[in-house]
Amino acid sequence: MVKQITIVSGKGGTGKTTISSAFVSLANDLVIADCDVDAADMHLLLDPTLLKTDDFYGLKVANINTELCTACGDCLDACRFNAIDGSFDVDIFSCEGCSVCEYVCQQNAISMIEKKAGESFSSMTRFGPMAHAKLGIGEEASGKLVSTVRNNARDLAAEFNKDLIIIDGPPGTGCSVIAAITGVDMLLVITEPTASGIHDLERVLELSSHFRIPAAVCINKYDLNESNTLSIRELCTEMGVDVIGLLPYSRTPVDAMLNEKTVLEFTDDDFTSVVRSIWDNLHDRLVSSAETVDITLKSSLM
Ligand code: SF4
Ligand code: SF4
Repeated sequence: MVKQITIVSGKGGTGKTTISSAFVSLANDLVIADCDVDAADMHLLLDPTLLKTDDFYGLKVANINTELCTACGDCLDACRFNAIDGSFDVDIFSCEGCSVCEYVCQQNAISMIEKKAGESFSSMTRFGPMAHAKLGIGEEASGKLVSTVRNNARDLAAEFNKDLIIIDGPPGTGCSVIAAITGVDMLLVITEPTASGIHDLERVLELSSHFRIPAAVCINKYDLNESNTLSIRELCTEMGVDVIGLLPYSRTPVDAMLNEKTVLEFTDDDFTSVVRSIWDNLHDRLVSSAETVDITLKSSLM
């Protein structure tokens, strides 16, 4: 069975992609899924060759048939998002797709139509197949696009006979994060020792607990505020979650990114040796969770 790990963080800029891409360069037989669809950047490091591109359709938007419209104004009055103007044109960037105008129009002049909101891609990289996507500027429905990327990743795993998917998740705790973590085998939460980092971490761990997904924590730049690092460790102890890595502040991620390499391709230093140990720890946890499932299955068959 394909195993899935999602790397998440409470907010952007905590080193999530640095660590995800490093794991990608360490793991064998994997598929990469860049689910940070609002700010996808894994492709900058992995230089994928496109295999397939599909249009992505997000929310439907209203469309007015001018031949049927009698300019009664009911739809304009009913739209709470001011998406219909005095000429009865729909601003597709303001339309939230609620269908209220379609409901109130007595002339059946309004229908809901598909609108292209981005693209999803299946690609090949030097480390294996990759599913990724690009959401259009100002578009929403990123949760739906995350699900599309995860489906594409599963298809790639089946096609190329891979047994691991590493998912670079979106930041935060919104619907796109829920779409990126649902049904995965393990979460790694990257955090930083700041007040907001602690707050965000707590919210992400509550989410993982709610969905009963085993989680572990890595503190990036732990040495910038050791008092807050201690607070994070105490919070994790309270919530029954292991801290499996303390990454020091380092220029290595920036220098590696500037050279379009993962940190492990770029150098071998204190930073990368901690990254390796975090991966070893995660990998062991995945293997032991697989063995537990195997034992449970066998005993249920006896
Ligand atoms: S409710 Fe229908 S008929 Fe009236 S203005 Fe809107 S589209 Fe035209
Ligand atoms: S679908 Fe909703 S948001 Fe869009 S134009 Fe109609 S009433 Fe306004």
